[in-house]
Amino acid sequence: MKKIVVLGAGYAGMRVVKKLVQGHADAQIVLVNKNPYHYEATQLHQVAAGTKEAADITFDIRPLLAGRKNVEVVIDEVTRVDQDAKKVELKNGEPISYDYLVNALGFESETFGIKGAEENGWPLVDIDTALAARKHLEDTLRRYKTSQDPNDLRVVVCGAGFTSIEYLGELVYRMPKMAKEYGFPLDKVKIDCIEASPKILPMFEPNLADWGVKYLESKGVNFHVATPITEVKPNAVVSNDVEFPANTIIWTTGVRGSHVIADSDYDQKRNRVVVEDDLRITGHPDQFLIGDVSAVPNPSNGRLYPTTAQISIALADTAAANLIALLKGGQTSKFVFKPMGTVCSLGPHAGIASIDMMGHWKLKGSKVSIVKKIVNDRSVLELANIRTMLESN
Ligand code: NAD
Repeated sequence: MKKIVVLGAGYAGMRVVKKLVQGHADAQIVLVNKNPYHYEATQLHQVAAGTKEAADITFDIRPLLAGRKNVEVVIDEVTRVDQDAKKVELKNGEPISYDYLVNALGFESETFGIKGAEENGWPLVDIDTALAARKHLEDTLRRYKTSQDPNDLRVVVCGAGFTSIEYLGELVYRMPKMAKEYGFPLDKVKIDCIEASPKILPMFEPNLADWGVKYLESKGVNFHVATPITEVKPNAVVSNDVEFPANTIIWTTGVRGSHVIADSDYDQKRNRVVVEDDLRITGHPDQFLIGDVSAVPNPSNGRLYPTTAQISIALADTAAANLIALLKGGQTSKFVFKPMGTVCSLGPHAGIASIDMMGHWKLKGSKVSIVKKIVNDRSVLELANIRTMLESN
């Protein structure tokens, strides 16, 4: 029996396992993940702002996959893929050999080598970093009562991508509650968001993007566009000769793939590898790369698809179908993506959305929170389905 090793239990990895099991893949499946849990990466900003608890967005992997003879879960950290020997090297355990590999190791924070970013910015990339950012924010705001240091009430959010904007939405929602709880004056809070490009939320139609920006501005966020960050000091973000002081600096300027990609000598850029149209990589027909470690060209415009949960899930479906086809001695198929649209929340009760299902819909305001909740709940249901499915097999 062939062995398929799946690296990473994020959206892509979990979905591949689910689809392989559902498709009765005639193979031994080994899922390797650093933590014993899956987390909802699309909701990390809520944990960081303190509007959701970590337990609300994490799920133990083992119980989900327990009781299935051909699925094994290994909790260990992948350090390297030996592509020639077809082995996955682990931090603690023995290397695992594979016939087919699905590399879905996900993302890390990108600092672009900016001085001080790693040391002084709080990234939001996993449960640990989100919890650390939350603790720092709360401790710093709480401290103002005794310190009277104005910088304790200043927050700088670096970058104005999806993560930053969604984090800002949660932050402005929670700030009045924290002011009451920790006894600091709300009118002395200053929140700055520093963005290098001249536009915010360029992936949305201009009227939706403007609505989102104005909404956050009305809640106290100061946007600074065309302002590239050049340095991050312990208590200030620097853009050329301008300084934005703050004792809380949230680092959300983008992501790159897992460092395991570079460590394993893949031909990569920012730890992402360009894949063939069936999601395998050139020279290694035994390997599929999906999720944030893959760079997938969009055939309609030649540009790379963005790295979103929606794409990761679609990539996983194609990779699983192709694996099942290969196991049966068949041919692989090309990845085809039909985007369903984009949703950006602005706190628990507002957002903007551009939906492409049964027509094109532009939504803003509280309706979007309902859409977002459906998207999130669906993801939870999908995971729960794994257990139901395994029980019935
Ligand atoms: P991102 O790359 O989408 O945004 C980062 C932002 O930081 C960009 O606007 C960039 O111009 C800016 N930036 C980069 N360097 C800078 C500098 N030196 N100074 C100032 N600004 C700088 O990254 P993200 O928000 O972390 O998101 C990561 C991925 O996850 C993206 O693909 C995103 O689409 C996806 N995501 C999607 C959703 C959603 O669909 N709701 C939510 C969160 C994340």
